Amino acid sequence: MKIAILSRNKKLYSTRRLIEAAEALGHEVMVADTLHCYMDITSNKPTVQYKGEELNDYDAVIPRIGASITFYGTAVLRQFEMMGVYPLNESVAISRSRDKLRSLQLLSRKGIGLPVTGFCHAPDNIQDLIKLVGGAPLVIKLLEGTQGIGVVLAETHKAAESVIEAFMGLKANIMVQEYIKEAGGADIRCLVIGDKVVAAMKRQAQEGEFRSNLHRGGSAEVIKLTPEERSTAVRSARIMGLNVAGVDILRSNHGPVVMEVNSSPGLRGIEEATGKDVAGMIIKFIEKQAKPYKTQTRGKG
Ligand code: ADP
Repeated sequence: MKIAILSRNKKLYSTRRLIEAAEALGHEVMVADTLHCYMDITSNKPTVQYKGEELNDYDAVIPRIGASITFYGTAVLRQFEMMGVYPLNESVAISRSRDKLRSLQLLSRKGIGLPVTGFCHAPDNIQDLIKLVGGAPLVIKLLEGTQGIGVVLAETHKAAESVIEAFMGLKANIMVQEYIKEAGGADIRCLVIGDKVVAAMKRQAQEGEFRSNLHRGGSAEVIKLTPEERSTAVRSARIMGLNVAGVDILRSNHGPVVMEVNSSPGLRGIEEATGKDVAGMIIKFIEKQAKPYKTQTRGKG
């Protein structure tokens, strides 16, 4: 097969591993820097151009689109979809998963366990908002944050009020969430491919920290999932329309609760913690699934 990878940098661990895995399985791979792709979107024969050449005859495209370039990245991916190239994750699903409010609303509608969560932009009655989500302690999150930045634990009612006020002063969109204390500073990353969790790890926060992000000094280890956790992860990926996803779960007293569904999950942490060849599994999934024009929306969404 001819596989294109959309990635800003071919030296990134995940990109490198996908290239290696695809080549090891006998495929031809090309990495295109997403922001350097360009195209005539009005042509009746859609194409994608890169460095003066037309990218044609590709069987599959693997999007590795960072949060900061979602807008342009999904447009490039949509163009591939219009050309009939099979996308590992399709553009509509990526856009959906990048909108945290939309994602949580969709998951909630389908009955996926979630921490009690409120959204707000400019509430006139902060007391009522705090009451709505069950009172302190609360986790307050900036919608635009990643890697745990902009995620604050407010242990008291007063602290929650001050943090919400401060974020409101910045005119930010925020999420106010029940604090899952019993998770003990740990979360679970489930790597879903198709209808299976192929690898899972527990990330444990450093002593004195509640955020388990590896970028915040958390550590990772293999974990055995319960059947309920497995089905929660697989269903969450399916609801988002993602073939490959990293689903983050907390173990709460009321069962597994989903925090986030990530459409470009990093491979380093999970491969190192579990010793599994996740990149190889992704390529094998593409081998089975890739067919021309096989998307749910053909970029129409
Ligand atoms: P980001 O997307 O920036 O990584 P998250 O929402 O995943 O932000 O939060 C970062 C970390 O904080 C999580 O991995 C988890 O360990 C912890 N955390 C987030 N929300 C909660 C919560 N409601 N209760 C307990 N811990 C939480």
